[in-house]
Amino acid sequence: MALRIVITGSGDAFSERHFGSSAVAVAPEGLVMIDCPDPIHRVLREASAISGIALDPASIHDVVITHLHGDHANGLEAFAFTHWLLRRQDTSRRKPRLHAAAPVMERMWSRLAPSMDQGGTVTIEEYFEPRILVPGTAAWVAGMQVDCRITTHMIPTIGLRLRHGAVGIGWSGDTGFEPAHVDWLCECGVVVHETSPPPFHTPVADLLALPERIRRKIRLIHAPDDFDPASCPLPLVQEGDVIEAS
Ligand SMILES: [Zn+2]
Repeated sequence: MALRIVITGSGDAFSERHFGSSAVAVAPEGLVMIDCPDPIHRVLREASAISGIALDPASIHDVVITHLHGDHANGLEAFAFTHWLLRRQDTSRRKPRLHAAAPVMERMWSRLAPSMDQGGTVTIEEYFEPRILVPGTAAWVAGMQVDCRITTHMIPTIGLRLRHGAVGIGWSGDTGFEPAHVDWLCECGVVVHETSPPPFHTPVADLLALPERIRRKIRLIHAPDDFDPASCPLPLVQEGDVIEAS
């Protein structure tokens, strides 16, 4: 299988039923976590059980963070400490790579440091190899090509195109409705697009108004708990769903 993602969380920040919107890409050379909500160990275990695809946190060596809202980044501490403890037992293990756009990475450590800086004696490099994603420049992560684009949201946020060969998956990130972002994502054959109330999120009505050739690529994520999937012709993803690149 060339490239696919397992949905690990499908909810918004307020969901009582779902984990924060996130996924793990099963890339040619390994697993790549796309955002990291809490409780991350349970998030990964439940998506593994539903999908039948093993998502052991110890086997995830790349993490992409779209932005620093808690429903996308609160699991980083537990994930990082898991790898940190494993490295104390096996010093040959590498630190996980943490990929984010510059304006996201700039504030990453100030968010993590109060619980992780060991009295001010260590920095983010104690836990991760930070890697900057540059809009307009492809990065290679676990054998897949990753492109990012800054979206319109409350804080710096990126959307992603994950590609391998001729196939790809678009990941909107949290975003207000932005036609240029949708067009950019739609260079991939399938797009996981968020929906939630505006202005910092995308109302489903705006996605429904898109041309059929675009609409048919879209899978919805990040819908509020009161969203009725039966009322909407666009499919809504769930934890454990597996989406093949196309
Ligand atoms: Zn957000």
